[in-house]
Amino acid sequence: MKNSFKKVLKLVPLSLFLLTMDQVVNSQIQHEYLANDITTLDSFINVKNIRSNVVLTSFGLDAITAIKTQEGIVVIDAGIATGITQRIRHVIEYEFHSNGFKYLINTHYHPDHYGGNSVFDEAEIVGHKNGLYEIADQWEDTAKAINRLTKIVSEYELALQASELTKAEWIESITQKTRYSSALVDAQSGYKILEPAITFEDSLQIELGELKFEMIYFGKCHSNSDILIYIPELKILFTGDLVFKYGRPSIVYPQSDEKEKWIRAIDWIEKRIPEIETVITGHGVILTTEDIKSFNQKIMEIGLN
Ligand SMILES: [Zn+2]
Repeated sequence: MKNSFKKVLKLVPLSLFLLTMDQVVNSQIQHEYLANDITTLDSFINVKNIRSNVVLTSFGLDAITAIKTQEGIVVIDAGIATGITQRIRHVIEYEFHSNGFKYLINTHYHPDHYGGNSVFDEAEIVGHKNGLYEIADQWEDTAKAINRLTKIVSEYELALQASELTKAEWIESITQKTRYSSALVDAQSGYKILEPAITFEDSLQIELGELKFEMIYFGKCHSNSDILIYIPELKILFTGDLVFKYGRPSIVYPQSDEKEKWIRAIDWIEKRIPEIETVITGHGVILTTEDIKSFNQKIMEIGLN
């Protein structure tokens, strides 16, 4: 006991010293628990009711929001893999007592947002037109993608075998390992990604029942296909992976030749800011309009330089 506690002290950063011992779990015990309880993975699916007709589900870094309208359900993003997203689909059906999926909108075309698209294959998939070539590029060399996923899975497996982990560390490692393992299964099975059937260049509005889904292309920034989605009747903005906490922008393409589009999109956001009540990021973090104001300011500084 004493030795194991010492080991924990070595591994746990100083800031975590205040944790009580019951928050430090033994990963071996957790492994056994997992092996004996097939429903454990479902227990990692978080469900947040944002409105009576909006549910935000997440599994680790996968975040899928479903919005129920009078004429069917709209889904925003689809997670990294079909296995997990299939479980999340059941959760949404249970929450809404409905399986009428009409549209799936991808915030951008990174695999952790479209990998599970085919789970909603009856829905029309909507996204920016650049997504088509982004998907083609990412899966051009399937063997390379499989090698990459295999490496990531084994790294998380090693992390899980570490003698002691905090509960938060264990949950992060097990959900990440599960996400990438599921994506690996999809890739190895030669599974075909479901691409967007409805694409647009600058902006698009879709109406379903009593709700409108206003979309605008941001310009190449975090990906080549970032869009913003706003539902005015619900006052909810979806920002994909463009914005992180405190309004920190995620700029993968700092040399973007589409900065004039960034400025146009910021203007679009500014017009809506007085109305916005909820901001949902691509990984399920809820931000405030203060974060968005800060993001707008930072993007303008970068865009104008
Ligand atoms: Zn992304």
